[in-house]
Amino acid sequence: MAQSTKGKLNFRCPSCFMRDIDIDMFFDEDKKEYYCLRCGFHGTETDVLRLNEQAKYRYKSMKMRVVDFGEDNQPLQMQPHKRGEQ
Ligand SMILES: [Zn+2]
Repeated sequence: MAQSTKGKLNFRCPSCFMRDIDIDMFFDEDKKEYYCLRCGFHGTETDVLRLNEQAKYRYKSMKMRVVDFGEDNQPLQMQPHKRGEQ
């Protein structure tokens, strides 16, 4: 822990990110694990990538725009949003 470094890549903590906290993790060279100083999460790169992938369910519509809210109980109508458009 005394020789904490960032890894090759900076990964955000998936556990904190689920609570809308965006924080970089550190890399433990001995254990080959990333760990979070804030919440105690630790895991391999594979673990981190898997969990970050899971967190994307919240943002699956991020690049979509709602074009019609419809009636109650009807699904939203969305279309892809292009950068620079309103
Ligand atoms: Zn964390």
